[in-house]
Amino acid sequence: MYDAKAYSAASATAPLAPDTIQRRDTTEQDVQIDILFCGICHSDLHYARDEWHDFMPAVYPCVPGHEIVGRVVSVGAEVTRFQPGDLVGVGCMVDSDGTCPSCRAGVEQCCPSMTLTYGSPDPHLGGVTYGGYSESIVVDERFVLRVPTNLDPAGVAPLLCAGITTYSPIRRWGKLEGKKVGVVGLGGLGHMGVKFAKAFGAHVAVFTTSPGKKDDAKRLGADEVIVSNNPDEMEKHAGTFDFILDTVSAPHDINAYLHMLGRDGNLTLVGAPDEPLPVAAFALLFGRKSISGSLIGGIAETQEMLDFCGEHGITADVEVIPIQRINEAYDRLVKSDVKYRFSIDMASLKGE
Ligand code: NAP
Ligand code: ZN
Repeated sequence: MYDAKAYSAASATAPLAPDTIQRRDTTEQDVQIDILFCGICHSDLHYARDEWHDFMPAVYPCVPGHEIVGRVVSVGAEVTRFQPGDLVGVGCMVDSDGTCPSCRAGVEQCCPSMTLTYGSPDPHLGGVTYGGYSESIVVDERFVLRVPTNLDPAGVAPLLCAGITTYSPIRRWGKLEGKKVGVVGLGGLGHMGVKFAKAFGAHVAVFTTSPGKKDDAKRLGADEVIVSNNPDEMEKHAGTFDFILDTVSAPHDINAYLHMLGRDGNLTLVGAPDEPLPVAAFALLFGRKSISGSLIGGIAETQEMLDFCGEHGITADVEVIPIQRINEAYDRLVKSDVKYRFSIDMASLKGE
């Protein structure tokens, strides 16, 4: 084991603060990574503040962070795909059983014994896993991704969660050319959803509660922007959407968005509010509409997404911050004041 600098939360109400954690020595299958950048996902905040207590109670101290880009510093004897110096990524998962039907199908995120990057029982050291708000991490090579070297690593970090979480349902939905796709919420996930839906040829509309984001939405690729708390604007689009990706982090009325769908339309939830979202049966029955959910993406699909981003020059729009500004960033996330992902420059941790 070795010591690594990190930022952790000691309780649901404590601010994140400097800490020292232990990382395991590399096993034969492991890759040791010096972390360069880590994105701040709203899930980090939900978890650190124990907002998901009923589904996933937080264990303290917790070290969030699952949008990791870094450089390989050493590899175990059996590692074949990476070598020191490689630019790599780690997302929301660091292990799974590798044998269950989900793992065999390449959807490791549905494996019943999947290990999350933070907050899961740690099979190596005991306790729970610690995430990317740290200078270093050790990960089984099966869960390490190759990062295209032509992209800005600060903007690549958010692809490891916000990117794959939006890419996966958009790809699964099918051919998007000529289809009308809605993205609800223009935050970290939402702005990536706009980029991907546009890259796959859809007519894209953003639903936002923040009129001040209209110009940005257009710049990011949206064809239309709908201020969702304006009933007149909403009604003009009723019944016209084929697919809506809902990225909202807080409780909200999803019936209003089901009303936007046309016949056989689908609303996929990726946002994870802490409270149930009531659904009116009639909002689904008329028009045979459906609601579904989606969780990040498998490892092969994540690599496919990163390669796609490398080919098309796609990264997240990031505000790079030193780790010392993390609590301010969390407060801004709660206010929907993010443009459009915070990415922590981990060099700032060296001086702690
Ligand atoms: P984010 O950057 O904070 O963006 C969320 C956006 O939702 C905000 O920018 C805002 O957009 C909108 N919003 C916030 N509060 C709202 C409210 N009360 N009513 C209506 N709209 C509201 O968050 P994120 O990192 O993109 O994450 C979004 C959600 O996805 C979180 O719940 C997160 O935990 C979850 N998530 C799920 C997965 C998965 O695998 N399914 C993966 C990662 C994250 P506007 O200002 O445009 O309205
Ligand atoms: Zn995330």
